[in-house]
Amino acid sequence: MIAGKKDLILRELEDGTGAAIAVAVDRSGLRSGLRIWFGDLDEKHGPVSELRPHGLKGHRVTLIFGNFSGAVIGQIRKASPEDVQLARALVASIRQDIEIEIPGESLSQWSVTTGAFQMRATIRELAQPLEDAEIIGTCRDVIVPMMAAMAELIGYDVIEEAVDDESPAFEGATLKSVVQRRERNPRNRLLCIRIHGEKCVVCGLEPRFEYGEAGSIIEVHHLEPLSLLIEPRPYDPRTDLVPLCPNCHRAAHTRHPIPFSIEELKDLRGSCRD
Ligand SMILES: [Zn+2]
Ligand SMILES: [Zn+2]
Repeated sequence: MIAGKKDLILRELEDGTGAAIAVAVDRSGLRSGLRIWFGDLDEKHGPVSELRPHGLKGHRVTLIFGNFSGAVIGQIRKASPEDVQLARALVASIRQDIEIEIPGESLSQWSVTTGAFQMRATIRELAQPLEDAEIIGTCRDVIVPMMAAMAELIGYDVIEEAVDDESPAFEGATLKSVVQRRERNPRNRLLCIRIHGEKCVVCGLEPRFEYGEAGSIIEVHHLEPLSLLIEPRPYDPRTDLVPLCPNCHRAAHTRHPIPFSIEELKDLRGSCRD
């Protein structure tokens, strides 16, 4: 069944986590399920998400750590407060009707400190729990954000593109690199899309609607670098990031060092028309 949709699941997982993912159909139980893990860590050395049918109408996703995850747990313990905050926000972005349990931890303040860490999600009242569409839905709704949270904690590197730096170095050069790193982090992008959708907040373009399967081009913009420059405050991916289409995003960053604001861009757009 699900085998035919494996590529789709893989692509969404890899886009969302920024890591190489392995998927296997698991037939060891009474009813077949899915197992998903980070390709470079294999199943024993890192987190594994298992999806199984639950009751007659549900799914259960369980995230556990393999028996030899000591090194990865050590790495997770060194995650920065910002990484931890983003990981928690990713899990918090899971739909409210899906029940999340983290044994021995609070849902808002959880952290991974030992290999005994577990996270369980229960999805109830599915119409066709064994259909591909429902399984893909659970991957998208639950496994992608959960695995993205783990990827953020583990610290999968964000691939840095060559920076086109025409502008001379300015005081906020460090800030600029912080902002670029956040804008290019696939987990920040995933969270921004899960919260705000994929519609450009300046022009309303929805690339996925416009270009179909070639439409995964929405970009993430970091708001308010000016205030960050003047008085640093804790960064919140939920409120500090907005989706912009590639055109509007490019336009925003034509002004240095402080990009045009969303309101300024909206005004500029209207101003050049007859
Ligand atoms: Zn736009
Ligand atoms: Zn930007």
